[in-house]
Amino acid sequence: MSKLLFDRPYVYGRGEKYVAVEDDLITYIGSEHPDKPFDRVISGKNRLMLPGLYNLHTHAAMTLFRGYGEELPLSRWLNERIFPAEDLLTPERVYVASKLACAEMIKNGIVSFSDMYFFCDETAKAVLESGMKANISRSIVSFDPDADPASDGRVKEALKLYDEYNGEGNDRLRVDLSLHAEYTNTERMCRYLAGEAKNRDAVIQIHLSETEDEHKACIGRHNMTPAEFMQFCGVFESPTVAAHCVFVSDGDIEILKNSGVTVAHNPISNLKLGSGTAPLNKFLNCGVNVALGTDGAASNNTLDIMKEMYVAAILHKGIERRADIISAKSVIKMATENGAAAQRRDGCGVISEGKKADLILIDTDTINNIPSFDPAYTAVYSANSSDVLLTVCDGEILYENGEFAKIDIERIKSDMKKISENYFK
Ligand SMILES: [Zn+2]
Repeated sequence: MSKLLFDRPYVYGRGEKYVAVEDDLITYIGSEHPDKPFDRVISGKNRLMLPGLYNLHTHAAMTLFRGYGEELPLSRWLNERIFPAEDLLTPERVYVASKLACAEMIKNGIVSFSDMYFFCDETAKAVLESGMKANISRSIVSFDPDADPASDGRVKEALKLYDEYNGEGNDRLRVDLSLHAEYTNTERMCRYLAGEAKNRDAVIQIHLSETEDEHKACIGRHNMTPAEFMQFCGVFESPTVAAHCVFVSDGDIEILKNSGVTVAHNPISNLKLGSGTAPLNKFLNCGVNVALGTDGAASNNTLDIMKEMYVAAILHKGIERRADIISAKSVIKMATENGAAAQRRDGCGVISEGKKADLILIDTDTINNIPSFDPAYTAVYSANSSDVLLTVCDGEILYENGEFAKIDIERIKSDMKKISENYFK
């Protein structure tokens, strides 16, 4: 049983407190030094403690394509660069790229992510080895309306992945089901997967209304918006994480709210691909659960939720010309509690006694963080992910002062460079 004591960091929402961690749980937060021995005491001087961060939309293995296919709109980026490159994926490539992504996320204070991709066994392996949490899913696409979804190879893979890995690693690894998007799936497939998710009480991940073209084309095809279509197909009868939601009507927002759909807001990817900006303030005013995502490294190009927090907080102020919207506190909640809720991880996403010990320490003694009047403002507006000194997941220190506890980072970097150099040969 491992016992850690954090010696009075500034605990977000609680002030300067001792924090005790025993095994995977926070067992004490208080002003008095707990009267028991600890394996290790970690100084909290000039340290801000936040809950570990959640990345609710990514494609971890797309670190392979970081910087490949720049400055193109979504449809050309996908069809001319990403889809042909993805034809050359192999299990080994996905494993190394996923492991690199895990390292990047852990270093940036992320303890859990939601992922949709291929060769998911490899991503599962990378997650389990890295010590972090993830909800992974095999992305489904289908174009033949007459094809039987039950005999679709991708669907079989997705369900096998669920059976083999859901709950592995002491429940660190969960398996969701995933429809890539409305424009890449038939109605029959959407209905079938919705049924399979319901049978398993599984979460569904989808891309929804990422661009104006996608939104309009769906109306042309089905006389329904993508949100209306997914509701019509029964997808929203399971807990759903819908990435992007850039072009949504007021009616769509009502549907998302009433169906309990979580919007994964990916402001940087949406800006970089020129897709637009999601109506975050409307989501929040309507009571939609919003979490933050990076999307894949090919459209971002980093897996850094602190960057997303900063952009989410300032972007909408500028668009709506109002400095008083999207508070720092609401952005921190999106990056922690709301993400954990969307992954249905009870007891995660907050710093409290009896909850999971998923914590990060931010150095507030860096030039960019001095002085610090309010920890929420420091975390969102001043701090960088390079100020993250320590990442703890399920009570285990995964990263501390530049060192990874469970990842041979030099080996992964070297393997990734070799793969990249030979990728198209
Ligand atoms: Zn995506």
